[in-house]
Amino acid sequence: MSPDCIFCKIAAGEIATRKVYEDDVCVAFNDLSPQAPTHILIIPVGHIDSLDTAKSNEENVLGHLLSAAAHIARDKGFADAGYRVVINTNGDGGQTVFHLHVHLLAGRPFDFPPG
Ligand code: AMP
Ligand code: ZN
Repeated sequence: MSPDCIFCKIAAGEIATRKVYEDDVCVAFNDLSPQAPTHILIIPVGHIDSLDTAKSNEENVLGHLLSAAAHIARDKGFADAGYRVVINTNGDGGQTVFHLHVHLLAGRPFDFPPG
């Protein structure tokens, strides 16, 4: 755990957040500032700064986050309609919280390329 990391605190239950999904590797919860009718963040329990700093021995965690996104999408019933998975990375990528997270967005169509 990284002491000043807000997402570590959420993963550890130190900040009360209603979790939409949780297992040994990841935790998912609703984004505070939703950009779509459904906007879920999926984070690893163990602190990783970003996709940029993830180590090769963390590939299993990276894969797990994507599998969890697909599982949640299917479980919540929006997989057939479709969804968008986003990992913002570093400055130009728009990353503001430096604990790796997958945005799972659904409930409206999304443009591509993103703005
Ligand atoms: P990013 O810009 O990709 O780093 O995304 C960070 C996301 O975390 C933003 O969409 C924020 O709205 C969201 N966020 C920040 N703090 C919290 C929090 N305490 N609970 C839920 N979502 C948060
Ligand atoms: Zn963290």
